[in-house]
Amino acid sequence: MKNNKLIYSQNYSELTRSQLIDIMEQTLSKRRFKHILRVEKTALKLAERYEADYEKVSIAALAHDYAKEKPDEEMRDLIISENLDLDMLQYGSNIWHGPLGAVLMKNEYNIEDDEILEAIRYHTVGSPRMSKVAQIIYVADFIEPNRSFKGVEDARELAETDIKSAVAYISRHTISSLVKRNTRIYPKSIETYNAWAVKNKEDQDDSFVN
Ligand code: GDP
Ligand code: FE
Ligand code: FE
Repeated sequence: MKNNKLIYSQNYSELTRSQLIDIMEQTLSKRRFKHILRVEKTALKLAERYEADYEKVSIAALAHDYAKEKPDEEMRDLIISENLDLDMLQYGSNIWHGPLGAVLMKNEYNIEDDEILEAIRYHTVGSPRMSKVAQIIYVADFIEPNRSFKGVEDARELAETDIKSAVAYISRHTISSLVKRNTRIYPKSIETYNAWAVKNKEDQDDSFVN
């Protein structure tokens, strides 16, 4: 699926794809705007491979970082007024922008579809349960062509053949790089890791014995 051939049914958003792109271009820095276009392209390839809904994937990809550049004060106020997890206040915009992006796309552009909203909400920390659309956005954000960190090639290879093992790899990579940088880990990141990346219980028991 070529992204420029994708015409929205408008079942999920009153916006056309080009209106959504215009909104993101006006809202985001040039650097981040280019990132979301690459994420969309990467995500649509995954949608083709794994037979996900192109339109949902496109909307979620284009909108996933919508809140990323909002001022911190505005984000803090929204976490409180929207009754989001107050523990988030101990973190920063890296953790806030996913959940807030979902809230803002719903409030400002009437996007109601759960798969789209959860893909935006969980794109940074993941979740024990993620729809196929959410898995695709989580993976595409990590492997888009401009990403160059160690391990990204492995994640790209896994994404070609098995999206779930790519999710597992990325959640493990995220936890381990946060630990290496002495960074506070948001509990949901650990829940994602436990659900997706930990081997089965018997293996863990064996490792204690050996
Ligand atoms: P981006 O918005 O396209 O830059 O990518 P993401 O939304 O996936 O990630 C934003 C940042 O959040 C990355 O630098 C991650 O390392 C960081 N991040 C992911 N999980 C956690 C966490 O549990 N705690 C903290 N402090 N940062 C995290
Ligand atoms: Fe992000
Ligand atoms: Fe992103």
